[in-house]
Amino acid sequence: MKILFEHNFIDECRTIKTEEIPFDKKSRDYCKANLCSMFGKTWSCPPSVASVDECKRQINGFENAFVFSHKRRIDFSDNEAVSTLRDETMNILHTITDRLKKNGIKHLALGCSACNICKNCSYPDSPCRFPDKMTHPVESYAIDVKKICDMTAMTYLAENTVTFFCIIFY
Ligand code: SF4
Repeated sequence: MKILFEHNFIDECRTIKTEEIPFDKKSRDYCKANLCSMFGKTWSCPPSVASVDECKRQINGFENAFVFSHKRRIDFSDNEAVSTLRDETMNILHTITDRLKKNGIKHLALGCSACNICKNCSYPDSPCRFPDKMTHPVESYAIDVKKICDMTAMTYLAENTVTFFCIIFY
């Protein structure tokens, strides 16, 4: 099982029990504030994400949570470098979830950004083109990533470094 989650580009990872996952009630307010400019832009982000209670119910259907980060020393204002790092992190996530699918392991994957599978999301004009592959951002499920880092001694912030996080429930 452990080998399915291995990837050379993962910088840090932890496996914790789903019941330990902390939530941040304010996270949906952050989505509405639209600092990432993705609010109301894709099927993967609020407001087209289930209620926080429903998200918790979905998560609680799984026993374990594999949390991983991918980071690089880059300037946060370097949009191209940040975007490349984000895409790399999502590629790690999809590589692992493809393995889980091949091995028939039921899971729920949450990414580090809005779903980026299609160049232009079909939202809101037509249904999601790949509902089986689409991933919601960790934050859209109201999960408090900073608290997870505090609990598990993972690095949340490092100087001159951008870090992205994903979680796979299984
Ligand atoms: S798979 Fe495509 S249509 Fe579905 S949420 Fe992702 S980008 Fe949008």
